[in-house]
Amino acid sequence: AEVTAAAVWNGVGALSDGMRIKVLANVGSAKDAQAAADAGAEGVGLFRTEFCYLAATDEPSVDEQRKAYAAVLAPFHGKPIIVRTLDAGADKPLAFLSPDPEPNPALGVRGIRVGRQRPEVLERQLEAIVAAAEETGVQLSVMAPMVATVEEAAWFADRAHEAGVTRAGVMIEVPAAALVADEILNVVDFVSIGTNDLAQYTLAADRQLGAVAALNDPWQPALLRLIAMIGKAANEAGKPAGVCGEAASDPVLAGVLVGLGISSLSMNAAAVRQVGAALAQHSEDFYRQVARAALVSHTPTDAKATVRAMVS
Ligand code: PEP
Ligand code: MG
Repeated sequence: AEVTAAAVWNGVGALSDGMRIKVLANVGSAKDAQAAADAGAEGVGLFRTEFCYLAATDEPSVDEQRKAYAAVLAPFHGKPIIVRTLDAGADKPLAFLSPDPEPNPALGVRGIRVGRQRPEVLERQLEAIVAAAEETGVQLSVMAPMVATVEEAAWFADRAHEAGVTRAGVMIEVPAAALVADEILNVVDFVSIGTNDLAQYTLAADRQLGAVAALNDPWQPALLRLIAMIGKAANEAGKPAGVCGEAASDPVLAGVLVGLGISSLSMNAAAVRQVGAALAQHSEDFYRQVARAALVSHTPTDAKATVRAMVS
């Protein structure tokens, strides 16, 4: 029988049957990190390091980076945090890493592709991240953005492990990576799904263009199927799969993601209480049924309506 918990957030993400789901925050600055800690986030599921350098003209030194990262990590002493290496390019160009002008920046040299071209920049960043984590006493994981192939995932994990990172993962935000998630999970310690870009690339709909916003909906059945594949692969591999895109901040969709096999959700600080409280309402078995109903819906609107009726 369904045990209904009170709709409160007590700082420990769990379903009504006691299964733990980590409720984490997305941060890009020390201010965000403090807001996330104040909201009761259990840790950080996505630290967007490129946000520290949107105005930088030159590459920051290792020591400057260490200080900037430590300021963000400080409120999370003893807690799990995932630092993402620079996601430069497309909507977040960095002056010191900008590629030559490209006709389609979203499909160009961005994220880990920049790291492959400039491995010494990645190495210096990893050194700074490891030092900042030691200084602040956080439980460090590091992941790379915009990974498309198993080979890129293995390349990154090798470099991160060599730099002293114990848990090295990649974001799954390119459909190609979702399709080979099982193979990627053989070479990394965890994956985190970026639903913003995964929706953009799956639906071929620019995330910055209002005219295609309806296509760019995380409730799209095609996107849910990809997430289901990743969740299944992660559970078979015995490794965690999280979601750190905007989808994780929707308290109704959060239950669907859990039912698809996702074990942590990372969101903006403002969503932490509501999502944490919503998850506690139902059990894993129930969220699996909810996820199945969403997967067989034909439109995002149908999926939302069906799931709303089930969870409320
Ligand atoms: C995403 O793409 O979903 C994501 C979390 O990364 P960003 O929004 O920074 O591209
Ligand atoms: Mg992204």
